[in-house]
Amino acid sequence: MKNTPFENYLKNLDETAKILKLTKEEVAPLMTPQNIIQTEIEISMDNGKKKKFEAYRVQFNNARGPFKGGIRFHPDADINEVKALAALMAIKCAVVKIPLGGGKGGVKCNPKELSNEEIKKISRAWANAMAPYIGVDKDIPAPDVYTTPEIMAIMLDEYEKVIGKSEPGVITGKPLIVGGSLGRDKATAQGGVYVLEEIRRTLGLKAKDLKVAVQGFGNAGANMAFLLQQLGYTIVAISDSQGGIYSKNGVDPHQALRAKEEKGNVNHLYCEGSVCDMKKLARDEAKIITNEELLECECDILVPAALDNQIREDNAPKIKAKIVLELANGPTTPQADAILEKKGVIVIPDVLANAGGVTVSYFEWVQNRMQYYWTEEEVLEKLKPIMVSSAKDGWNLSREKNISFRKACFAKAVERIVKASKYRGRI
Ligand code: NAD
Repeated sequence: MKNTPFENYLKNLDETAKILKLTKEEVAPLMTPQNIIQTEIEISMDNGKKKKFEAYRVQFNNARGPFKGGIRFHPDADINEVKALAALMAIKCAVVKIPLGGGKGGVKCNPKELSNEEIKKISRAWANAMAPYIGVDKDIPAPDVYTTPEIMAIMLDEYEKVIGKSEPGVITGKPLIVGGSLGRDKATAQGGVYVLEEIRRTLGLKAKDLKVAVQGFGNAGANMAFLLQQLGYTIVAISDSQGGIYSKNGVDPHQALRAKEEKGNVNHLYCEGSVCDMKKLARDEAKIITNEELLECECDILVPAALDNQIREDNAPKIKAKIVLELANGPTTPQADAILEKKGVIVIPDVLANAGGVTVSYFEWVQNRMQYYWTEEEVLEKLKPIMVSSAKDGWNLSREKNISFRKACFAKAVERIVKASKYRGRI
């Protein structure tokens, strides 16, 4: 039977406890959330009828600082998954040593069946219901699945109405004009690039010799492709939800973006619907591939940047990449992870690879508190040493103990949270 996300988290925690030789008492604070807030919010729908929605917030651990994590609007929002995501936020913040804990929340609703007005009302109602529990020094939400910077601005407005003063640092991922941070749009990809570059240099590899396949061409994946191309890597494959393109000579991500913007997907670089320009494909030695084929294609670095559970027990043995850079959250199942580890594939884990996002969210919070804002260059300058030193920490421990990079990053994070809990006298 498939494990739930929270069971997977507990399994990782158990393995980490063994590596660190932790006692049951030391691990206990990381096994259950500190608080679960579950309530109902009610709004008037466009048809004049009232409707109730389940709203929640899981505050997992704040030993290292205020709870931090996204809010999702999703019909399948499930408390078990949210508990796991909240725990992983505590781990991620500890991996990159930013002084924040872990939380996650949301509303059980289907945004695809709601009007913009209804979504705005739900956002306001969530912030109103959660106002006693969140706060600039308590719990700082952010966008997640189907929530946007615009939704963050509405929530901020409602929260400030409740507390009667300006407090932009209560929520991150805001539009620039209401206190967002420059550089946030590129932060996740840029953070991943800093980590990858550190590992590449450590392994003595040259960027110009490395072929990269990127699954997902959204915020994280597209920015990653642009940045790596600029550094001399060859992007041999890219894809979005409709499928992808492979060429051993390289695919230009800028042209792919143009095709996506104009026609809706990256394949439009070569095809109109199901009709493809065979001459153009032959000229570029390119071919149209499925997302499954992208994962298994001939490349050195695979970057899953779309969804979770993409690399599984069935396809992990066929993966040819030597390095997997997890920009998406949870793209590799635990079973696939074990297969990749056995094959000697270096998996740069999500809690490190995509932590540039939460790190720049932390910078947004810092800037809001100072009421003084940095340029994009300053933001990226501050991001780099955090990502590089976190990569070194995890990498060195993985070599020292002969464990996977994921286990090493997890161990570093758990060690930091346990230490903070001890100093606080919680253990
Ligand atoms: P996004 O919505 O901007 O882009 C997602 C992309 O994935 C789109 O191009 C979409 O077409 C593609 N996609 C959807 N289904 C697909 C499929 N079956 N196969 C291939 N591609 C598919 O999302 P994003 O912000 O880029 O996030 C991508 C992943 O990165 C998510 O797992 C997210 O949790 C993670 N992440 C993002 C950030 C961030 O700052 N954006 C931070 C941390 C983690």
